[in-house]
Formats: sequence, structure tokens, C-alpha cells
Amino acid sequence: MATSDTIRHYADDAIDISYDVRRCIHAAECIRGLPAVFDSSRRPWIVPSSASADAIADVIARCPSGALHFTRRDGGLSETPQKPTAIEPTPGGPYYVRGLVELRSADGSSVVEDVRMALCRCGQSHNKPFCDNSHFAAGFDDPGAVPNSAPPAENKK
Ligand code: SF4
Repeated sequence: MATSDTIRHYADDAIDISYDVRRCIHAAECIRGLPAVFDSSRRPWIVPSSASADAIADVIARCPSGALHFTRRDGGLSETPQKPTAIEPTPGGPYYVRGLVELRSADGSSVVEDVRMALCRCGQSHNKPFCDNSHFAAGFDDPGAVPNSAPPAENKK
């Protein structure tokens, strides 16, 4: 899935930030959270020296797609996977997966192990099973409500 062609690294002495362009769904949590570090109008668009490694790690943990990750070079804490692992549909958008998950292909081979993913829910992504924001063009508008697991009363036998 992710290859060295799609992953870029931005590092200083404290932190190494990796960015996978194929996983980014432009939710802009990074830009809103630390505009001095993440600025899509600038090249390079990520400048890790513009904030503390702790602040960068906090913002990266909010990246819903898993496009952003970090490795601490200063001995700071690495990202802690959410527990319990959870899958949450977003209104009109992807499933957000949180927690350590191994994503496998239909043949059982491992594609990626990650703690954050945004998976296609509309069926239109060109980067399946990952979301690529095709739900906007598709007009996908499912609210994402998940019915209670108990069957409706009329279906009970
Ligand atoms: S938070 Fe993640 S998905 Fe959103 S724009 Fe930044 S890198 Fe892309």
C-alpha cells in the first residue's frame, strides 16, 4: 500500500514526522492544530522545528486517516493506541478506525498495521480500502447511525 514513493519524512533532532500522501483526506486537523508546523501553502509544508515535539505528537494523534505518524528522537513517548479498538462511521464519510489494527487483503496478506485509518464507506474510493474523499463527489449522505444490535421487535420470533 504505502511505498517510499508516497511517504515523505520531515525531521529535526527531536522528532521524525512521516506523511503518506495517499492516506491524507485533507481533514486539516494538522493545519488547524499547529499552523506553524503544518502549512500546505509552504514548501516544505511540514517544519518540525516550529513547535515542541510533544505538541506535534499531540496533533499527529488527531490525524484521522493515519497519513501522519511520528518517531521520537528525543526519548519522548510514542503514540499509544486507543483502547478498546473502535470503528466509527462518520456522517457522509468514511469509517474511522482507532486502535491497533492489522489491515489484510482478501488473500489474507497483511497490507498495513496502524493505529488510525479512514476506510471507504461509500464504495467510490480509488484507493480502497482507504478513503480518498470520493464520497463528496458521489453525494454520499448516510448519517452513519448504527442501529442497536438487538433486532427490531417485529423481527423477533
Ligand atoms: S490531519 Fe492527517 S488527513 Fe488531515 S490534512 Fe493533516 S495529514 Fe491529512
